[in-house]
Amino acid sequence: MRVRASIGTLAAVGILDARLDDAPTTAYLLQDCERCLARCAFCGLSYGMDRIARVTWPRTELEVLLPELRRFQRVCLQTVLKRGWVEEATRILEAVHSVSRHVSIALTPVPKSYLRNLAELCDFVGVGLDAPSPASFRRCGKPFTWSTYMKFIESCAEVFGKGAVYVHIIAGLGDSVADVLRVMKRLYSMGCRVALFSYVATTPARFPGIDVLSYRFLQVARQCLEEGIDPEPYVERLEPTPRFRRAPPISNPLMAVLTSGCPGCNRPFYNESPRGPIMNFPSLRMVERLRESVERELELVGAL
Ligand code: SF4
Repeated sequence: MRVRASIGTLAAVGILDARLDDAPTTAYLLQDCERCLARCAFCGLSYGMDRIARVTWPRTELEVLLPELRRFQRVCLQTVLKRGWVEEATRILEAVHSVSRHVSIALTPVPKSYLRNLAELCDFVGVGLDAPSPASFRRCGKPFTWSTYMKFIESCAEVFGKGAVYVHIIAGLGDSVADVLRVMKRLYSMGCRVALFSYVATTPARFPGIDVLSYRFLQVARQCLEEGIDPEPYVERLEPTPRFRRAPPISNPLMAVLTSGCPGCNRPFYNESPRGPIMNFPSLRMVERLRESVERELELVGAL
């Protein structure tokens, strides 16, 4: 069966020759399509490109890749909108489930009955809400409506269980830090979690992006929510550069800069060039290598 896989996934198993500054610990698969019908303005698949964010996705045969998937901590299937995508996704997941029990699916709203089928094959689910607010949701041309997504996210939490739903949120689509904080708080209060992405311009449509310090602030706020701490009482200001008045009591602020998402999901260089600045760190080894500058950034936002 024809699928796509991220260039890092193919390089990690030796199918493709590419230099890896940090290897993916999850195998990232993507449904094949000429052009995704979802039409999200920030995504290359909407324009018939073969990339999402900075990552390219060469085509491959699932049967060739399947025996290699055991090497990864997790396998993640990213779905697209096209005719017959649900049936195809099910066939891919059934094959993947035969070699790995740690499987995620990243998807758009589907009926609850299908979610129940998915829960037999996947232990975590990712929801590509992407836009942090209803206004940017419309600006980006996301499929469905904001309220359809919110109902769907609720259904995911019901079917997969609290803590097993990661909602993808992109910072830098023109929303304020307050907008991103608001949606993160709402999602955690629904029993879900946030996988935070930083916008990278790779398509004809352009969005403002986010600076490193604002992103570090959001990463620390997200880590607070992960640890059951409301970040708001610690906030001094949100504009122009957000800052905590005193460091929130999270277990290790350095952990906050790691890629967030399902267990084992590290998405190396999904948002950034290996030359930096690194927004999501794929490993603690890389945090250690750049420790001085990360600590300086965390100090500047009042998190250390
Ligand atoms: S957080 Fe990572 S593993 Fe989970 S659905 Fe999103 S991309 Fe896939």
